[in-house]
Amino acid sequence: MTNRWMDGCPFCRIVRGETSTRLLYQDDLVTAFPDIHPIAPHHYLIVPNVHLESVNEVAPEHEAALGRMFIVARHLAETYHVAQSGYRLIVNTGPHAGQSVFHLHMHFIAGRHMPFRA
Ligand code: 5GP
Ligand code: ZN
Repeated sequence: MTNRWMDGCPFCRIVRGETSTRLLYQDDLVTAFPDIHPIAPHHYLIVPNVHLESVNEVAPEHEAALGRMFIVARHLAETYHVAQSGYRLIVNTGPHAGQSVFHLHMHFIAGRHMPFRA
């Protein structure tokens, strides 16, 4: 059973409202907030409220939260009027992907052209 919170995890602290981070969205399953070092005019992070280190810890019991992350991505796209211009959703996992915060998160990036294609 995964711990619901992880001591010292910056994103658990944000989810719990223990920081000054402005929340863009929060419900029972997920939270969205601006990335502290934005790489585009719109750069937000969508996280499950439960502490999961990465996709490597994802299990069937997390399906609802993972699905909700996409619902919130669409919500952000509409809120910030980038649904038509486009946006990129990224989930980095492990060293080769450069994951630096070990609380699963989806980057929502929009507002400029993104030439790199995986
Ligand atoms: P990763 O490379 O792990 O996919 O991305 C982690 C992201 O979290 C980075 O873009 C970084 O700027 C952001 N980040 C790290 N610490 C904090 C924090 O305390 N608050 C916020 N809002 N973003 C953070
Ligand atoms: Zn956490």
